[in-house]
Amino acid sequence: MDLKGSRRFWLLLVLLLTAGIAVYLTLRPEWPFQTTPVSLPVVLEPTTPTAQTTAGVSTVLESASSTNIVSVEAVGLTVNAQTAGSLNDSPFVVLCYHRFVSHPEKFTEKLSEYRFPQAEFRWQMQYLKDNGITPISMRQLKDYWFGGKPLPARPVLLTFDDGFRSLYDVMFPVLQQFKYPGVLFLYTDFIRDQGDSLTLEDIKAMQKYGMELESHTKSHLNLGYVEEKTTANDFSVLLTKELSDPLEYIEKEFNYTPTTLAYPYGVYDDRIVEETQKLNYQLAFTVNPGPNDRTVPPLKLKRDLILNPIGHESFAALFATKVLHLAQVYPGDGEFILKHRPLVSMIIQDDIDYKTIKLYIGTASVNYSYNPKTHELKHQLKKALKSGGHFVRVEAVDKTGQPRNYTFYFRIKHSGLVLAPTKEEKLTGVDDK
Ligand SMILES: [Zn+2]
Repeated sequence: MDLKGSRRFWLLLVLLLTAGIAVYLTLRPEWPFQTTPVSLPVVLEPTTPTAQTTAGVSTVLESASSTNIVSVEAVGLTVNAQTAGSLNDSPFVVLCYHRFVSHPEKFTEKLSEYRFPQAEFRWQMQYLKDNGITPISMRQLKDYWFGGKPLPARPVLLTFDDGFRSLYDVMFPVLQQFKYPGVLFLYTDFIRDQGDSLTLEDIKAMQKYGMELESHTKSHLNLGYVEEKTTANDFSVLLTKELSDPLEYIEKEFNYTPTTLAYPYGVYDDRIVEETQKLNYQLAFTVNPGPNDRTVPPLKLKRDLILNPIGHESFAALFATKVLHLAQVYPGDGEFILKHRPLVSMIIQDDIDYKTIKLYIGTASVNYSYNPKTHELKHQLKKALKSGGHFVRVEAVDKTGQPRNYTFYFRIKHSGLVLAPTKEEKLTGVDDK
């Protein structure tokens, strides 16, 4: 081969290789499942719906407001094909505890509802055991969510917020007795300050046993409230600090990097969720009560706050419900709105007996209109709601007799610039600090 011929040969070879790669990339088979997602399989809700996205709303699994519609493509990315939740997805429950007391009778003043008696906790753990309800680890939940690995029947995740000392002294012996896993959501300033908090040794002992250490931010701020009070720039800096500090601190002290987050006071909005995703949190937990399945947005998971007292029947009922699937929710889940009298609306996707629908704004049961043809449920607020966070809860029984419910959360912005925490604001805070 002469020089010209050799050049032609190489050129042909390169062309053939390029074409081969192009054909492979186009036709290659999909992976059966994604074990380690390259980027988080979570997609932010676009703020401006397009014609294309609105067309697919009926198939959208995530609740979405009219101004906040999730695109079909987004849902495809949110939950990959193998792990996609369907309306028949099986539920899991997440319980949230704070602090514990071993001898409540010794307190002369009424106990805070956040202090849970050890004997009641033991009763609850025994209830789980007797009823085939299986506590799972966060690891198991993530393997299920992202890898499709099956969970045991009737799964429950036990979570413990803040990092109070009584978690080690009072709760932990019971957990050990039942050999149950559990998750500590720690806020790092509390652990650093070493006041009424767990010591590093306590945490290490709990970690050695198998409890998982996860993030509850740096300083436990009501982030929604702070966001209103500060400029966008200042809030951005603060938010990154609040969410990233536990990742670094827990890694440094306990050699583990958290991958999940519990929002302080259960407060979140689009901006907070966006930053949570950016920092590679895979799952995040609210305190919106109710069961979960994989149709629930992974960064807005439900948790049942266990407050003292809770009756045995109420506790048992937490495990008897399934997710009520909603679409086109207004106000959107986590949305900040200005109106104090919004028209609350949503589409119920499950085949329900509409006579069983109950709608609550906060704890108040409210009347509603329901259109059985369009499945649209509406309530026009007559009385102005106060600024701050509000829950919307819908309950219904489906045609098979299965009770279902769904709770979402929105915030009404405070008007004016000077903001002092109001009594209402404190009441909507769902924590004991
Ligand atoms: Zn907390």
